[in-house]
Amino acid sequence: MRIIMRDTDLFQLALGLTPPWYVVSCEFDPEKRRLDIEIDFPRGSTFSCPSCGKGGCGAYDTEQHSWRHLNFFQHEAYLTARVPRVSCGECGVKTVDVPWARSGSGFTLLFEALVMVMAKGMPVKSIANLLKEHDTRLWRVLDHYVHEARQDADFSSVTDVGVDETSSKRGHNYVTLFVNLLLSQVLFATEGKDASTLARFKSDLESHQGDPSRIREICCDMSPAFISGVEKHFPEAQLTFDKFHVMKILNEAVDEVRRQEQQIRPELKRTRYLWLKNPQNLKSHQVAMLDVLKLKKMNLKTVRAYHIRMNFQELWQQSPHTSEAFLKKWYFWATHSRLEPMKEAAYTVKRHWDGILRWFTSKINNAILEGINSLIQAAKARARGYRTTKNLITMIYLIGGKLQFKLPT
Ligand SMILES: [Zn+2]
Repeated sequence: MRIIMRDTDLFQLALGLTPPWYVVSCEFDPEKRRLDIEIDFPRGSTFSCPSCGKGGCGAYDTEQHSWRHLNFFQHEAYLTARVPRVSCGECGVKTVDVPWARSGSGFTLLFEALVMVMAKGMPVKSIANLLKEHDTRLWRVLDHYVHEARQDADFSSVTDVGVDETSSKRGHNYVTLFVNLLLSQVLFATEGKDASTLARFKSDLESHQGDPSRIREICCDMSPAFISGVEKHFPEAQLTFDKFHVMKILNEAVDEVRRQEQQIRPELKRTRYLWLKNPQNLKSHQVAMLDVLKLKKMNLKTVRAYHIRMNFQELWQQSPHTSEAFLKKWYFWATHSRLEPMKEAAYTVKRHWDGILRWFTSKINNAILEGINSLIQAAKARARGYRTTKNLITMIYLIGGKLQFKLPT
């Protein structure tokens, strides 16, 4: 059964159509659960050239187009129209812009706005299922608006940057993120985790009115690739090594001592987390177990390594004036510990001395990077089954880029 609605005025009004465009017909097909709205223009109408804006161009010919629109209750709605091409003296033959969709899209602007709003709160895959669209088409919409909004982003005031990487596709690919630490805003995300990511960040910064020489502080982990990239592309910036990553080096060293020692001291088996967690985060039975292992008569190398690590952690409570003397003392202790992994960790600290102590000046906080990390986890969830790393990057910008989207309301 087909119902032809005679009164097309309501839809004309609802779509906000302005002359020369008007609604010709609305066909509702209850079996297909589909509403088709046909739009047209009267003979002799004139249009503007989409390239130069010159008005008064007559239709040269037309092409039939259709666009998915917002659902009409539970029914899918489509607009169709013959879209004129104009012959402009300056620009040649061009397809005119229609007011309800952007050129090249198979969706209306309002449908795209809906997709953008939904994408902020649910996985793209779920939106695709809900709207009965292929997710690739939705990713293309997200990509368009993110790209457009990023073009207008202004990075001229950026001075403090955090760099961190995340894995995508089960660890086969990496994405490196550059974050404005003062606004916790993702400035740039790019594939890879090598020094060239810094070169790409620099040129992206410059294309957004940013000035590489104004970047004062950069916070990153101790990866040689990041360090050499910073030195090469941001020679005026001071490096701070992220506290979390520095502590990770110490934790790994303690764990290495324990793994070696457990070969002859089986009581150390399955105690890994006792040594890695801060004591205040341990449960009472874990504290009791740790207290036994720490007894002097046990004489464990792991305990000595543990004390060296705990002592290092006190570095962060020092004042800017006492920090270096404290670190020197610690370094002497660690390098004389006769514990190979602790000595290695101490040498690593020595090689990154200035960047570790820089924290006392820059006070760059890894809490923001951790916040960014939870954001990435959210982006990954939202981008579930994202097919390409490009899509993951689009989602990272959507969630963390603090972008201003130009969407119809
Ligand atoms: Zn023109």
